Amino acid sequence: MNIALIAHDRKKDDLVQFAIAYESILADHTIFATGTTGQRVIDETALEITRFQSGPLGGDQQIGAMIATDQMDMVIFFRDPLTAQPHEPDITALLRLCDVYHVPLATNMGTAELLLKGLQEGFADWRLIRKSRE
Ligand code: PGA
Repeated sequence: MNIALIAHDRKKDDLVQFAIAYESILADHTIFATGTTGQRVIDETALEITRFQSGPLGGDQQIGAMIATDQMDMVIFFRDPLTAQPHEPDITALLRLCDVYHVPLATNMGTAELLLKGLQEGFADWRLIRKSRE
């Protein structure tokens, strides 16, 4: 499974803690991330991560392009709901594409935890089965 990690600045510490806690599950998958988020997780874990541009410089759109081409299976996006972001249109577009393409999306730690535990149990295998038939 291809999984994207994104965190706004005030949520990056939370995402790093999350990645450390779930490193063993994440390590079984292919991880992508926006630039700064990815570097933070690389610094704190042994995970291999493909980093895109920073979010405000187009990283959200790069992840969106992967969703639109059926190359992204899950998005974990710790948004900061209390701070205005300069790239709000990109964020909205990314969330919209997740809904267009039925990509599981977690925007907070509670949901992210359920998604990864579900992933571990095989609850998202339908995506792999569908792809193997195409
Ligand atoms: P960043 O991008 O990981 O490069 O900070 C995420 C964002 O802030 O949108």
